[in-house]
Amino acid sequence: MSAPERSDLTTTSAADLARALKARELSSVEVTRAYLDRIAAEDGRLGSYLHVDADVALARAEEIDAAGSAGDGLAGIPVALKDVVVTEGVPTTSGSKILEGWRPPYDATVAARLKAAGTVLLGKTNMDEFAMGSSTENSAYGVTRNPWDPERIPGGSSGGSSAAVAGGLAPWAIGTDTGGSIRQPAALTGLVGHKPTYGSVSRYGLIAFSSSLDQAGPMARTVLDAALLHEAIAGHDPLDSTSIDSPVPVLAECARRGADGDLSGLKVGVVRELGGEGHRDGYEQGVLDRFAEAVALLEGMGAEVREVSCPAFDLALPAYYLIAPSEASSNLARFDGVRYGLRVGDDGDRDLDEVMALTREQGFGPEVKRRIILGTYALSSGYYEAYYGQAQKVRTLISRDFSAGFADVDVLVSPTTPTVAFPLGSRVDDPVAMYAADLCTLPASLAGVPAISVPCGLSDGLPVGFQIMAPALADDRCYQVAAALEAASGGPLIDRLTGAAA
Ligand code: GLN
Repeated sequence: MSAPERSDLTTTSAADLARALKARELSSVEVTRAYLDRIAAEDGRLGSYLHVDADVALARAEEIDAAGSAGDGLAGIPVALKDVVVTEGVPTTSGSKILEGWRPPYDATVAARLKAAGTVLLGKTNMDEFAMGSSTENSAYGVTRNPWDPERIPGGSSGGSSAAVAGGLAPWAIGTDTGGSIRQPAALTGLVGHKPTYGSVSRYGLIAFSSSLDQAGPMARTVLDAALLHEAIAGHDPLDSTSIDSPVPVLAECARRGADGDLSGLKVGVVRELGGEGHRDGYEQGVLDRFAEAVALLEGMGAEVREVSCPAFDLALPAYYLIAPSEASSNLARFDGVRYGLRVGDDGDRDLDEVMALTREQGFGPEVKRRIILGTYALSSGYYEAYYGQAQKVRTLISRDFSAGFADVDVLVSPTTPTVAFPLGSRVDDPVAMYAADLCTLPASLAGVPAISVPCGLSDGLPVGFQIMAPALADDRCYQVAAALEAASGGPLIDRLTGAAA
């Protein structure tokens, strides 16, 4: 490969940047500056970042260049972090007013590992408040726009990360996914996004939403980049009690192998309940068409395709919207006006309860309050069994559907989202319509299994995502199949937005 032109730095894959850095055709300062220039020029329009410190980023890049380590693994490559990831000394808000001004005293494990790998932090990205939402319109700090069409949402809740990467304002980024918040925004912006097996990436230092579901993962322009970023953050962490003690998975190798396009022997199950016959309400025809074409491509590469029925998936949405708010109502109790950020009404005349109530009234937005109320109700004595208990039983049924499916096939596939990116403002006052954006992503979250979204073409000029789900700890299968599909469909879809393919 020849050195990328300077002007092309923000369309070059991270894997190619690493090669050029290693060959000393480029410096980390040059790459970092290219991204900072683009942020300065474009982010007024996109709104993807909540915090950028150009001087700190450049100083860090200089340090990596001076140490001569640029290009060793991820060293010298810039990265953006969703603002739910706690970063030492760097403002962290989780998209909420209640955390305005908070500078954490420590790094999340994900942030610490990326720091140790020598990456350069560009900034913290916008998100739905406490990761509750599917459009990034629930942020206390304004909306983020989709680089494919600025009048549309970039997905959520990791919409700042998706817009930054798709818009060329970061080579890649970290998102978090509780019910779909990596996969759905990746799908709607033409990116690759992976939700790892629950417990395989540390949750230490991620601001908790729903602890039994939350996972951090990579958002990138290519499957290989996503795999490289994933490897850098994965692995056991004694600071997270639910962390799985298993080796870091080999993913980049799988992505490279997958790109060869040989899927012979692979058994693929198309989930009937996610857009199949009798389950197409709310699915756009363009999404179903691109999905069917992608399945045909997998077949063309030797995969054996069959339909698999997972009946309990139809209940994922109501079960999720009981479990996630229940856990959130408990997790968000810590924001009391005493320990972090905002404090309202502390004028000497009010007692602690009043200050707490005023702080929470002013600090939380409407969607967060809705979930706290719903979750508190679902957990209250007398209702607990009827709501939370039933939802947990549904969760078990969903896991059993996955187990039965994976007894017959290697991966399960579906569209990532029922529709392409919707217009800004079109669902924000209709929570149920907003929740429907997660229809296809929720089952894998509830079962804790890995799932990737990889682009499978455009519908009316907007990206469509293809979801690949695998058994727990078989994240490598997601990458292998995604890489095969990416190669068979003419390379990374994002190149059609940036013109890099031309
Ligand atoms: N959109 C879903 C919700 O609002 C999922 C969010 C997420 O994955 N963080 O809860």
